Amino acid sequence: MSLSEAELIARFFRDCGAQRHDVALGIGDDAALLECPPGMQLVATTDTLVAGVHFPAATPPTAIGHRALAVNLSDLAAMGAHPAWALLALTLPEAEESWLAEFAAGFGALARAHGVALAGGDTTRGPLTITVQLLGHVPQGRALTRAGGRPGDLLFVSGSPGDAAAGLAIEQGRLAAPPAAAAYLRERFLLPTPRVALGERLREYARACIDVSDGLLGDAGKLAAASGVGVEISFAALPVSVQLTATLGEHAARTLALTGGDDYELLFALEPGRAAELERELPRGEWNYQRIGALCTTRGARVCHDGTVMEFSHSGYQHFS
Ligand code: ADP
Ligand code: MG
Repeated sequence: MSLSEAELIARFFRDCGAQRHDVALGIGDDAALLECPPGMQLVATTDTLVAGVHFPAATPPTAIGHRALAVNLSDLAAMGAHPAWALLALTLPEAEESWLAEFAAGFGALARAHGVALAGGDTTRGPLTITVQLLGHVPQGRALTRAGGRPGDLLFVSGSPGDAAAGLAIEQGRLAAPPAAAAYLRERFLLPTPRVALGERLREYARACIDVSDGLLGDAGKLAAASGVGVEISFAALPVSVQLTATLGEHAARTLALTGGDDYELLFALEPGRAAELERELPRGEWNYQRIGALCTTRGARVCHDGTVMEFSHSGYQHFS
């Protein structure tokens, strides 16, 4: 590497994230010292992105930096946690300055937007791989989990799932879209918006929560299984963007909303009696979520449409009578 490791860290990462008073010791020593506020539980998550596996190798470096943090922010959002500190393990084929500058700009902008300090990391040479560990906190005993749902709970999802999967397909040349829709959908894949503020507010309302990263239907099944219940989703209630509908038509758009990945939206279950309060305190127009179904006693995940149950696989769906 033309830059020494120390130069690289000083130049691109020392001031990359937010400044936080609870970082007693940040980048530069053998480990970071972080002050978790009294009465709070530490919440920890990590995710690895491998070039060519989790993102196309040609993805713009700003988007890679954004994404590496965003996927972790989404996990903390699903726990109702407040993000605070990140560690960044970076494996690079070479220390290319323009790549590093753009990567750090994408990572840093999102970190500062969420008040996250970059408190340390590791830098090694090898095939491009980014691992971010994100730490945050939640008031003792108040974290949201996948396990709290009960039969009869209403199921809600934020945002418009399916957009990111279409964006990836466009990015890879597998899907064509009208230009304005293509720009929107690509951005939804490249620069996902983790629902951190919504997750924190949902601590007051939701009984169970998961972030949608592997496809809405599969992740709804995970929430239901963890809660020991089943889930029913109404196909017609699925929120899809006008851009996705313009690209695929309504039916295929809703199908992709169920089966696509990389959404980083929140899926949450709510005691039915609290729906009015939720919608009063967190107006849907402002917080961007939609009721899509309910939890039930019959195990498994089902999608209902016009009185029939649709069966889905990764490649599409089939009706059965
Ligand atoms: P050590 O060999 O003791 O692990 P390093 O030389 O790897 O130390 O790291 C020096 C300091 O820089 C440490 O505080 C480490 O956390 C930080 N660091 C290393 N790589 C990164 C990175 N990619 N992003 C942020 N901090 C990093
Ligand atoms: Mg090290």
